[in-house]
Amino acid sequence: MGETSCLFCSGTGKDVCSACEGKGKIGGFLGIGAKTCPNCEGSGEAVCEHCLGTGKERTREH
Ligand SMILES: [Zn+2]
Ligand SMILES: [Zn+2]
Repeated sequence: MGETSCLFCSGTGKDVCSACEGKGKIGGFLGIGAKTCPNCEGSGEAVCEHCLGTGKERTREH
């Protein structure tokens, strides 16, 4: 059987934050007036929704 890496995050368990598109900051112009993204707290990363951060493809057992 074995485990398969999540195709969406390549097994990292992380995804690009959709709120700031990975920048870690929101708003502003050319870096002026930008605020830290509240969604990812400035990391620019979000937990992969598909594997819930495990990096492994979820398999359904029957
Ligand atoms: Zn963000
Ligand atoms: Zn994933």
